[in-house]
Amino acid sequence: MSQVQRALPPPTSFSEAVTWVPANKRKAKNVSLVFARNKDTFSEEVKETIQKVLAPSKLNVGIRNIKKLAKGEVAIECDSAKDTEKILKEINSNTGLNNVLDAKKPTKKLHRIVMYDIEYTIPKEEVLETITSQNEELKSQDIKILFKLRSKQAGKCHWIVETQQKTFHALLRKKIIFFECQRLSLREFLRPTRCYKGNKFEHISPNCPNAESCPQCGEEGHKTADCAQAAKCINCSEANGKFNLDYDTNHTASGPCCSSLKHEIEKLISRTNYGR
Ligand SMILES: [Zn+2]
Ligand SMILES: [Zn+2]
Ligand SMILES: [Zn+2]
Repeated sequence: MSQVQRALPPPTSFSEAVTWVPANKRKAKNVSLVFARNKDTFSEEVKETIQKVLAPSKLNVGIRNIKKLAKGEVAIECDSAKDTEKILKEINSNTGLNNVLDAKKPTKKLHRIVMYDIEYTIPKEEVLETITSQNEELKSQDIKILFKLRSKQAGKCHWIVETQQKTFHALLRKKIIFFECQRLSLREFLRPTRCYKGNKFEHISPNCPNAESCPQCGEEGHKTADCAQAAKCINCSEANGKFNLDYDTNHTASGPCCSSLKHEIEKLISRTNYGR
C-alpha cells in the first residue's frame, strides 16, 4: 500500500488554481536558475545580489523578470536564448557574483500524465504492457509508470505515468488511452509533492525534517480528527511571515485555493520544459 498516496482534491481544482495555459500553448521560456552557494541564504538575498551586481545595460540583455523560487533559488527570465546565455556566463564569471552564486539552465523534467479509473488490482507491469500494445503512440522505452492514486470509484485507481515530450503532446492531442475494452481519460498531472507529516511541500513524509503538524490548523501535537480549531494554512502563514506577503491563511494545508499551492504549481511548470 505504500505506493498509494491519499488522493488530493480532483485535478479540476488544480487547473482552476493557476492561470491556466494548456500545455500545447505554453511557450518554452528562456530561464536561468540561480542558486546561492551558501545553503542558508534566502532567495530574497539572491535576488538583491543579482540586482546590485548584474548590469543588464552593459550586457545588452533584456530581462523580463526575476522570480524567487525555493529557498536560495531565483529564476531570471530573458527575452531570448542568446540573452540567457549571456546571463549564465556573467553570473558564473563575474567575481562579485560567482563566489556566492551559481547559475544553470533548468534541467528538463519529464512530463507526467494521469490515466483515470483503472482496476485497482491490475499490477503496474500489466498496465504498461496493456497501454503500449493498444496505443501506437506509446513505446515502452518512452514511458515509465510511476505510482497510483485512489479513485472515488470503488475498486479503481488512477495511474501516473511519465513520458517524453513528444509522447506527452501526442497523448494530450488524443485525449484518451485505449485500455482493454475501456477508453481511459487522461490529463496532464501537475501536482506538487506535499508531505502528510509536516504538510510542507517538496518532500514526502519518510524524508520529513519537520515536526508532525495538523493539516487543519497547522499546530503540532494533533491531527485533523482531533482538531477543534479554525482552518489556518501552515504554508501560507509561514510564507507571510518569511516573505512579508499577504496570503489568505483561512484554509487547510490541503485546500485547493491555497496560494502556496499555486506558487508550487507555477514552480513545477517553470521547471518542466514545454517547448515543442
Ligand atoms: Zn514533511
Ligand atoms: Zn489542528
Ligand atoms: Zn495555503
